[in-house]
Amino acid sequence: MGTALRRPGSADRLDQRAAGKRRRDDAALRSELERLRNAHLYRARRVLDGPQGVRPVIDGRRVLSFCSNDYLGLAAHPALADALREGAGRYGVGSGAAHLITGHGQAHHRLEEDLAAFVGRPRALLFSTGYMANLGVISALCERGEALYADRLNHASLNDGALLAGVRLRRYPHADTAALERMRAGGDAAMLISDGVFSMDGDLAPVPDLASIAETAGARLLVDDAHGLGVIGRAGRGSLDFYRSRGWHDDGSVIVMGTLGKAFGTFGAFVAASEPVIETLIQRARSYIYTTALPPALAHATSAALTLAQREDWRREHLRGLIARLRAGAADLGLPLMASQTPIQPLLAGDAETALAWSRSLEDQGVLVTAIRPPTVPKGAARLRITLSAAHTEQDVDRLLELLRSLPGAGHEPAASAAGLPG
Ligand code: PMP
Repeated sequence: MGTALRRPGSADRLDQRAAGKRRRDDAALRSELERLRNAHLYRARRVLDGPQGVRPVIDGRRVLSFCSNDYLGLAAHPALADALREGAGRYGVGSGAAHLITGHGQAHHRLEEDLAAFVGRPRALLFSTGYMANLGVISALCERGEALYADRLNHASLNDGALLAGVRLRRYPHADTAALERMRAGGDAAMLISDGVFSMDGDLAPVPDLASIAETAGARLLVDDAHGLGVIGRAGRGSLDFYRSRGWHDDGSVIVMGTLGKAFGTFGAFVAASEPVIETLIQRARSYIYTTALPPALAHATSAALTLAQREDWRREHLRGLIARLRAGAADLGLPLMASQTPIQPLLAGDAETALAWSRSLEDQGVLVTAIRPPTVPKGAARLRITLSAAHTEQDVDRLLELLRSLPGAGHEPAASAAGLPG
């Protein structure tokens, strides 16, 4: 007899089921949660009393926050609240159906047109969240078994999209296009995917190089610009525009994913691309087809946010000043901020325990900065993820620097020079 795996008999199957059940019962779950706590990897939520902002009230206490992705300070802007109320008056609250049934209204349609024009693509398609947009694009445009190349630091939703699509996911070292070329070397590639601005590191993807590798490989390039749109590029047009303004020729082939719950201060997401790509998503993207459309009032409020975000360049200019101030101050203190030019300014701690201790020490003094730990970032790369917002003042940044200076083990030799938000 060989050693081939045999199919489990019915008794074995029952044993396996019992083992699985044991692993999932409450006692087993409690002990797994305890393990996470002991490893400093347990995640707890906070409950905000009022609106999002740089000075939220949490458990009755006002704190200074460097945690949100509300980069332009729009999440609680009165003009957006007015637009949401106006939208609710006009369209009601719920969309009541999926887009392909009767959930798609004028407010959605207009926002799609505005977003397409904003990012410079013929069409845009709204999704209910960025997570769902990424699942939808990858699974609609790739076939099972095809090769997909992804930056190792991409957002989790892009990896999950690859899993859903059943592609061969090949992850290349962060932003290393030479390594990507070596990995691909003559093989097939259906798609390349990259964050535009990396969510936990704050640096920019090498979009022009990725676009040219995609072209050579006959592959699609998908750029998830959740953290670039509204923030970088001319009038906040994002990572692609950052490179266009420096002479890169954008031939329109890159597919852009953008989220609306960050710089634009509302909720939802979109994909912008050529006409056939968007029509294919409408026909095939399951996370588009089988879900309720965004509330139309939110789409209405997002159109107002998009107008405001483009018009009020002062928000990006102010952010640029804050980034430069934080980086200059950190360099003076010898704090190891990672090399980022965007509002995401991570301070490397190393192990999860240190990151958590730093975050708790800041919180004790009324300043919130999230500790980001594995599995969100690689092991040994736990960090404080400082995010700046146009709603911060220079004094807020100075206060943060004052507290960072006294974190145990945070300061080293005066380090690299300051860099600002790219235009
Ligand atoms: N992509 C990136 C890079 C993100 O940071 C996020 C949100 N954290 C998403 C996608 C998902 O977007 P949403 O929150 O709209 O689901």
